[in-house]
Amino acid sequence: MIVVKFGGTSVGKPERMHSVKDIVMSVPGQKLVVLSAVSGTTNELIAISDEFSNGNIEGALDRTRKLYAQYVDFVQQLYATEEGKQKGTDVIDRYFQQIETLVKQPFYGKANKLLVAQGEIISTSLFYEYLNEIRVPAVFLSALDFMYLKDNGEPDLELISEKLRKILAGIDDKSVIVTQGYICRNSSGGVDNLKRGGSDYTATLIGAAIKAEEVQIWTDIDGMHNNDPRIVENTMPIAELSFEEAGELAYFGAKILHPTCILPAQQKNVPVRLKNTLNPAARGTLITSNKNPDAIKAIAVKDGITAIKIKSTRMILAYGFLRKIFEVFEKYQTSIDMITTSEVAVSLTIDEPTYLNEIIEELKPYGTIEVDKNQSIVCIVGDFVADKKGVGKDIFASLEDIPVRMISYGGSKNNISLLIDTIYKTEALKVLNKGLFNL
Ligand code: ADP
Ligand code: ASP
Ligand code: MG
Repeated sequence: MIVVKFGGTSVGKPERMHSVKDIVMSVPGQKLVVLSAVSGTTNELIAISDEFSNGNIEGALDRTRKLYAQYVDFVQQLYATEEGKQKGTDVIDRYFQQIETLVKQPFYGKANKLLVAQGEIISTSLFYEYLNEIRVPAVFLSALDFMYLKDNGEPDLELISEKLRKILAGIDDKSVIVTQGYICRNSSGGVDNLKRGGSDYTATLIGAAIKAEEVQIWTDIDGMHNNDPRIVENTMPIAELSFEEAGELAYFGAKILHPTCILPAQQKNVPVRLKNTLNPAARGTLITSNKNPDAIKAIAVKDGITAIKIKSTRMILAYGFLRKIFEVFEKYQTSIDMITTSEVAVSLTIDEPTYLNEIIEELKPYGTIEVDKNQSIVCIVGDFVADKKGVGKDIFASLEDIPVRMISYGGSKNNISLLIDTIYKTEALKVLNKGLFNL
């Protein structure tokens, strides 16, 4: 079985959905197709949900009607037959009806996950009806029947595997299976999601759960590039990456992959291939357990970082000091990305500032606290061997005009992280592109 995932842009227009069908049909063997919502829809559904939460029901309904109108056009172009158009219209009528019903309910809670889930439900239903129209044998699979989270909010891979294997045993291997990315159920059975960009995660979780031959992630670019193409002009695709390298890049801001989606594939050793729906002939990127030492592969950047420095003379020779500090972060379920220490201070970074004030208050007894907001982590990824000379020199020579606030080197063989003020981000990525890749 091959898992083939298509992102929002790949299903964003009726003609793109036609290409998706061509790509799916060209994949050999049995395939399980994971689709995102049509591009823009999740943003719009979140906006509708926010209006709804703020009590602006008219605003929410108005947005809903505008979104519906877009889908009316979509349906007219997706299907060629009257019967197909009718089936497509039934789909959008059914789910937009559901959205209106939700919006008209009395206010209950901030984020309405069931409302936001309609994006993926609509895109997969439309695609499934399209396959029916052109007589491709297909099965519609609801992700809500197998994609489960544990109590701690993490995917429950064992349960997913158990449920999915049972369902798949009843499906003949000639049918194209179509399911939703992103959406899932939490441990209480409520509709939930895998966070923004989560369809990639759905694909690799399925790949790991059924030990698929390969997971293909089809998007709007020809693979993982060596630098962020949204910020730097001259970037190039990377043919191969190890799971470790791809995982670091995803976690540290390479938007092409959901931050944690590499993990399940790595655990079960399922190759992940990144491909371009707009240019299927392009080679893309293959992510496997193969390592290619001694090479800088790519740079990624993650914004919205807060740096916290705890200065204390008591840190000298004080065993247990770091444990006490870390316990504060654990208490507020805030994970730490970077850490550097000196004899009298420890600096660390977080990307989730919800409990920043509480954390600072609890850290105060341990020393003087300094906080810097609006920081970015620039992450240089590759397979660095410890005895390779000159890696640091190339990086710091490139960054000679940029103030670097923290450095983390040696934590893993795959990552050198630097913390800079976000105002220097664009310049830093550009000079590193020149200095490390000559681009
Ligand atoms: P999809 O909707 O298919 O999930 P995304 O928008 O989530 O697509 O991811 C693809 C986008 O990721 C690209 O269009 C590109 O702008 C962005 N991106 C950021 N960093 C990188 C990178 N290093 N390599 C490739 N794409 C990247
Ligand atoms: N539709 C969801 C989002 O926009 C999930 C995804 O596209 O991967 O975040
Ligand atoms: Mg994405």
